[in-house]
Amino acid sequence: MSLRVDHAVTSGTFSLDGQTFDVDNNVWVVGDDAECVVIDAPHSVDDILAVVGDRKVKAIICTHAHDDHVRVAPALREATVAPILLHPDDRVLWELTHTDYLWDVDLTDDQTITVAGEEIRVLHTPGHAPGAVCLHVPALGCVFTGDTLFQGGPGATGRSYSSFDTIIDSIRSTLLTLPSDTTVRTGHGDSTSIGAEAPHLEEWIAKGS
Ligand SMILES: [Zn+2]
Repeated sequence: MSLRVDHAVTSGTFSLDGQTFDVDNNVWVVGDDAECVVIDAPHSVDDILAVVGDRKVKAIICTHAHDDHVRVAPALREATVAPILLHPDDRVLWELTHTDYLWDVDLTDDQTITVAGEEIRVLHTPGHAPGAVCLHVPALGCVFTGDTLFQGGPGATGRSYSSFDTIIDSIRSTLLTLPSDTTVRTGHGDSTSIGAEAPHLEEWIAKGS
């Protein structure tokens, strides 16, 4: 199997509810030498294309529509002719950033996307955002969690369109059912694993939000 994950970190900002923060975002590219998919499109088309190289991009998959994850999705689409995929429940967030262009294809729970002959399974995991998804790649033993699960706990739910109870339900009923040795590749910061995070669920609930 020649499927692999390539990675970059891009720097920029995240804005919501009238506040702006400096953020570093992970860009993940999953594929082989011939084709790939891009997971999230923050800040810089050039930084993403440097990871893609000369491969064909089959899809630009957005884990959710916060502006630090979709800012350059339309520009990347222009550069690669690849469709933008987003869960439609994030339309309200998408339209905060992009008013002149919608995404191309709706993501649905349990949908399968094929790249380099292997499957990427879409898991709808609302909470951080209503249309947040995680992307499980069984062949790689990893899941791309966007801002739903980080090393050390769930993604933020303090701002508009987020729900702490919903993200906890998503993590419990969906992510924690994956094999414990599944690597968790996140939207920001370091990777972790399902097994490393699962024992802390009750602590997170006790802390609440
Ligand atoms: Zn986010």
